[in-house]
Amino acid sequence: MIKLSTYHLHTTFSDGEFPPAEMIRVAINFKCKEIGFSDHAPMDFDCCWSMKKEEIPDYVSVIEALREEKKEQIKVYLGIEQDYFSPEPTFKPDYIIGSVHYILKDGHYLEIDKSAEVMKNNIDTYYNGDVYAYCEDYYALVADIYNKTQCDIIGHFDLVTKFNEKMPIIDTSHPRYVNAVNKAIEALIKTPATFEINTGAIARGYRTKPYPSEEIILQLRDMGEVFVLNSDTHTDYTITYNLNEYARIFDKMGIKYIKSLEEILQK
Ligand SMILES: [Zn+2]
Ligand SMILES: [Zn+2]
Repeated sequence: MIKLSTYHLHTTFSDGEFPPAEMIRVAINFKCKEIGFSDHAPMDFDCCWSMKKEEIPDYVSVIEALREEKKEQIKVYLGIEQDYFSPEPTFKPDYIIGSVHYILKDGHYLEIDKSAEVMKNNIDTYYNGDVYAYCEDYYALVADIYNKTQCDIIGHFDLVTKFNEKMPIIDTSHPRYVNAVNKAIEALIKTPATFEINTGAIARGYRTKPYPSEEIILQLRDMGEVFVLNSDTHTDYTITYNLNEYARIFDKMGIKYIKSLEEILQK
């Protein structure tokens, strides 16, 4: 049985629904032993879901005060989710989740996980309908996410498949897709960063399976990767969403062990 924890969650500092104190209150109720805040780092361009630079000091002081206040009940970490295009953090977080949410194409930032319609439209407009060229550009950034962010955790590795259950436009067995995935895995497996298994899109109704796909999880497992399990929650009641269930599923897949943040940070 894993120790219930999540190191990927969002609050009202970025695009989450509840402030940190409420998230901690619910986490304690759910018998969560450890919690890590990872609100979205600021972006250089106008972005509705990230923190603003000027909000960072407040984010840091609120989380640090809660960490102290609640230390008898729960272990609290101060993290950040750095996008590939986020400027370097202006504070020293306990840990960094490195994630790709945009592709930069012909001077345009194309948002990967906005909606199925936006994705389809971007592929048609900027990639002449070539979905694999789009995936190749996405995974090229993912391959470079550790170099770019020095992240401790690799966020939602195959986010590009977010809408694929409802709008199956990527054939994930297509050689170009597989090749793009493999190149990113080859680059990242050599780094000290840990891959997360992320149940966030299940909680939000986009998918029935976590990121990354089962094939990718098994591939990484066979390469010796030990995962961290995260809920990437944006609301309170899904803080531990499916984590226990997935821990059982992974046990059956031969994944016997999930890393704690402390182990991730020891590298
Ligand atoms: Zn993310
Ligand atoms: Zn997130």
